[in-house]
This record gives sequence, structure tokens and C-alpha cells, in this order.
Amino acid sequence: MSHEGIRFVSAEEARQDELAAQQLDRLPTDAVTPLKVRVKLTEGTGIEIDWRDGHRSSWDFRWLRDACPCANCYNERGSAGRVPGEPKPKSQALFALYQAPPRPTEASPVGKYALGIKWNDGHNSGIYSWTYLRSVCQCALCHPPRS
Ligand SMILES: [Zn+2]
Ligand SMILES: [Zn+2]
Repeated sequence: MSHEGIRFVSAEEARQDELAAQQLDRLPTDAVTPLKVRVKLTEGTGIEIDWRDGHRSSWDFRWLRDACPCANCYNERGSAGRVPGEPKPKSQALFALYQAPPRPTEASPVGKYALGIKWNDGHNSGIYSWTYLRSVCQCALCHPPRS
């Protein structure tokens, strides 16, 4: 990706803000307000969020890496027809040497609305808004398994 090195943070943040605002329209405030966020860095497993409406969501790190909401990943998934969390096809990894499983090197709040995640593969432009995370909750209630 030739434009990888050029990124206008303000435009990107504005885009993600706008996305978050759209999602806010259809989600009650309590559903997108985290009470407790657990980033299980030590265990290397994933992220758990308890929401103010009593709901609990969890995702593993690999899923979250494949659901990165930044413009590059978003466009790349779109052109490849992948949904958030869907891994890239295995063939692309054929020639790759061992790759460490995705794992944040850092996860910190971005304002009041999001969690910024820096990944061990060097990718660090993902800003996971609470509304985005709630909208991609993987529990059986929000995301019934396709039959
Ligand atoms: Zn990304
Ligand atoms: Zn859910």
C-alpha cells in the first residue's frame, strides 16, 4: 500500500467520529458506555467490556486486529469483501515466516469515546470507539451464529 506512510490524523479522527455518531443514533447511551474495560495484555487473550446496560462483550485480539476500524484496514476489507474480524485468506501467509499472534503493545483511552490500540505488528492507527465495539459485539445475542 503506497499511501501507508501518509495519514492525516485529523481527517481520520473526523471520519471515525462520524462513524461513531451514526452508530450512536441507533444505540442507547447505556449500551455504548463502558463500565469496565479489561484489556488482557498479560494473558494475551483479548478485551472484555462490561457496558452500563448490563451487557458484556468480549473479543480475542486476533479478531480485533482483523476488525481494525482505521481507514486503511476498513478500505482494504471492503475491497476484499471481508467483514470486520474476518481473517485474511491463508494463502497470503504461505510465504510468511512465523508471525507472532496479534497482540496489543499498548491500549489506551482516546478521549472518552474510544480505545486506541497499538499492535505488535507495528500497526497503530486503529481507534476502536465504544460504539463501534458495541456494534460488533460477538455474543450469541448480538451476533447469532449463521446456520
Ligand atoms: Zn488498521
Ligand atoms: Zn452482545
